[in-house]
Amino acid sequence: MRGAGKQVFRTRNWSFGGISGVRQKIVALPRLNRLQPTLESTALKLMEEAGELAQAIGKLRGLNGEEVSLAREDIMRRISRELLDVAQTAVSMMFVLEEQYGVDLDRSLEEHLAKLVAKGYLAPEGEE
Ligand SMILES: [Mg+2]
Repeated sequence: MRGAGKQVFRTRNWSFGGISGVRQKIVALPRLNRLQPTLESTALKLMEEAGELAQAIGKLRGLNGEEVSLAREDIMRRISRELLDVAQTAVSMMFVLEEQYGVDLDRSLEEHLAKLVAKGYLAPEGEE
């Protein structure tokens, strides 16, 4: 399982908009072919999963004042699981946007990356 994970998550150097040497995380998640998601159902699911992630980060780490009984490793595993639920739901929504609304997500991604550069969130190597 751990070996398979390394095939899904890769970090590599990346170049965009004249900025090179930026590390990127590549995540490959499937289209869930046994569900019939809609824009509304994926939006609600995204909020639900975001709530579960917030709970894992806050409650499981005792930020609400309650005593924590889980080991740190178990908490981090739970946080990672909930984060992936958020990512999976976001990917499901991307498929909905493409297939049901004709959205060009490649174009959206280009615009997103350009926005990150324009906002100054990405800088050439050595200037970050
Ligand atoms: Mg979840």
